Amino acid sequence: MRWVRSSARLGLRAVSYKSAAQGLKHTPPLPTCVSARTAGTAIQRPTATDVSAGRPLRVCVVGSGPAGFYVTKYLLKEEAELGCEVVIDIVDRLPTPYGLVRFGVAPDHPEVKAVQNDFDQVASDARVSFFGNVCFGKDVSAAQLSELYDVVVLAYGAAGDRELTVPGADLEGVFAARAFVSWYNGHPDFAHMSEEFAKALASSDTVAVVGVGNVALDCARILAKGANALKGSDICDHALDVLSSAGAGLRRVVILGRRGHVQASFTMKELRELTKLDGVACLVRQEELELSRTPASLDELKTARPKNRIDALLTKVADGSDSVSAEAKAVEFRFLVGLSDVLPNNSIPNRVGAVRVERNQLELDEATGAQRAIGSGVKEVIECGMVLGSIGYRCLPVHGVPYDERNSIIANERGRVQGVPGMYCSGWARRGPSGIIGTNITDARSVVAAIVEDVSSKQLALGDKAESRQGLRNMLMGGQDGAPGLRGSGGTKKKVQVVDWDGYQRINRDEVARGAMKGKPREKFVHVEEMLSIATAVGDEE
Ligand SMILES: Cc1cc2nc3c(=O)[nH]c(=O)nc-3n(C[C@H](O)[C@H](O)[C@H](O)COP(=O)(O)OP(=O)(O)OC[C@H]3O[C@@H](n4cnc5c(N)ncnc54)[C@H](O)[C@@H]3O)c2cc1C
Repeated sequence: MRWVRSSARLGLRAVSYKSAAQGLKHTPPLPTCVSARTAGTAIQRPTATDVSAGRPLRVCVVGSGPAGFYVTKYLLKEEAELGCEVVIDIVDRLPTPYGLVRFGVAPDHPEVKAVQNDFDQVASDARVSFFGNVCFGKDVSAAQLSELYDVVVLAYGAAGDRELTVPGADLEGVFAARAFVSWYNGHPDFAHMSEEFAKALASSDTVAVVGVGNVALDCARILAKGANALKGSDICDHALDVLSSAGAGLRRVVILGRRGHVQASFTMKELRELTKLDGVACLVRQEELELSRTPASLDELKTARPKNRIDALLTKVADGSDSVSAEAKAVEFRFLVGLSDVLPNNSIPNRVGAVRVERNQLELDEATGAQRAIGSGVKEVIECGMVLGSIGYRCLPVHGVPYDERNSIIANERGRVQGVPGMYCSGWARRGPSGIIGTNITDARSVVAAIVEDVSSKQLALGDKAESRQGLRNMLMGGQDGAPGLRGSGGTKKKVQVVDWDGYQRINRDEVARGAMKGKPREKFVHVEEMLSIATAVGDEE
């Protein structure tokens, strides 16, 4: 996974929270379904006016991460092309928006999070409504959304893991990197894990991170930096507490890559940062770099400049690695070592005590041109008390949405969900867990182009729809005309407490105020109930 740090590099304009909260000055909406191209020499093409019977195009976007926000942003710009107003409801299972910008991007990379300002502008647009705390597949189904809306865009990301499957991977102390990242970033689903991480960190001075992508490097950096260096960031207090107590004895983080450094997917910025941490050495083995430089890898280095720079930096680090004392706190890269199994702790047999790795060699697959890791039979044991599997996030199937099992994504053709007219997908749910925040812009533009094409060419039959926004509210909150949401279908008829944008702003303000008292940008709320009590539900206001 590769990403960039700065929203400026994505061409995004930063605005303050204040100006965003005051509302976006957007071009006034066109009169409902009056074609913008009826006069002059503009090319005449079929527009939504022909099919939508004098009403706006009603769109529901599921997921308020970068993918959801970019689809919303670019679809709002297409009113002229569509010939009608567009209204968009964004649904998210959590009361807070932004997806991995809030729960993935590292706390010591605040400049990346500035992209939220762009998303705030989108959410403040009068044509957009936020439905937080609404879980697609639980509170509302795919069929219900298709019934209510002309267009449904699924942008619910990848909320699962590619799991380690080696023997011993079920021992206590083995976690998915996603759990660790989500925990230190305050995701409510992982807020209960402090004790488990504390136990694992206290049991040994070494952590093994399996995988060589940017998420692996984020985990290694956060662990190695420790609490003191992170206390001015928006890392959650519960993580600071664990890092400053159980994590204080940490001496080594070992990053394990089964192939060579040329095949690693981390980027130069993240690597450089790891080599410059205060009081933390970076270790690389010259012989492993040498073994990685097969003829095919050397060819790759010739053509890929970023890889060349990584090769040069790792070589420089390796040159200095021998002089680092064995006691120094360090992040150590190991290349060409595949995880064979996780071994139990001698005195606590249900807990991890070490990982056993097998030295690998690279072999060229002539058919694909890729280099595979082949075990050499030579094994090595690395003692550790915690293992983080960082081998990828995974999009999970949702009832009623066609799923591509092989690639673990929504089954789609260039963003059109297979076999479901009017349903589209974008972001990690569409293409899998790869790419930077900006990659979701390209994705969004192509999905928006597909929607415009389908509406304009009348591929999309826009039937009679009830007022979708109110219809969704009724459905979720048990309004007069509404059927109860799925959450209530077990007989309890529980209403869903929807958090609207004003509700989220209240959460945001409280978080920023709590943070200010501690010298942090914000102190996140980590329990949904807590957030709900701060955000007044729309239903309660009505
Ligand atoms: C640890 C980590 C660090 C990263 N750091 C960077 C970085 O520094 N720079 C960079 O450019 N990129 C970074 N990335 C990549 C970037 O975060 C992704 O490209 C981007 O977030 C993907 O966007 P998405 O909208 O598809 O998914 P997500 O961001 O995951 O958003 C999905 C949204 O859908 C919601 N959702 C999920 N299920 C449901 C449901 N059933 N019903 C309703 N809503 C649902 C979620 O709550 C979430 O809000 C990082 C990724 C990770 C994992």
